[in-house]
Amino acid sequence: MKIICIGLNYLDHIGESDSTTPSSPVVFIKPDTALLRKNNPFYYPEFSNDIQYEAELVVKVNRVGKHIEKRFASRYYSEVGVGIDFTARDLQRECRSGGLPWEIAKGFDHSAPVGRFLKKDEIDDTSNIRFQLDVNGKTVQKGSTLDMIFSIDEIISYVSRFFTLKIGDLIFTGTPAGAGSVQVGDRLAASVNGEVLLDFTVK
Ligand code: MG
Repeated sequence: MKIICIGLNYLDHIGESDSTTPSSPVVFIKPDTALLRKNNPFYYPEFSNDIQYEAELVVKVNRVGKHIEKRFASRYYSEVGVGIDFTARDLQRECRSGGLPWEIAKGFDHSAPVGRFLKKDEIDDTSNIRFQLDVNGKTVQKGSTLDMIFSIDEIISYVSRFFTLKIGDLIFTGTPAGAGSVQVGDRLAASVNGEVLLDFTVK
């Protein structure tokens, strides 16, 4: 499986990251070794001094598809969850300043914790799926699919022009404002529509 990630998909995060609004989705991929499941702890890696969390809504692909039209895109995912797009911001800054790819800053081992998933059928309104991240009991990020620049369906349609989607692939759909640094000992709890689906500590 692969993990497809969308960057810069919320205006308020673009503002805080000194970026400009993209005209098409910004796409990158994390390898399957980035996955961290079952609320296992995240071990702070030795190669960075600035690991930052980005809480993101995650959709799980449930059928194979390529060149998916937007109007059919909702048929290609049946579960929704939440994940953290961990980013070694110091490495990313170095790579970006050199105009180089920043895979190592985004795709390192366990840089993609994901929790339980909810069935899409059980969500009343997929155009307004709310999610949030609490760090040590304090809410630091809040988002909704309402505020996405590119909707889930637009993302599925766009990425499937380049990558065949396969069953079990995950799509991270971008982070809202409030991305910030984690410290050893932090506890991260992320929820979708008020239900906690991911809860782990940084060690
Ligand atoms: Mg992100």
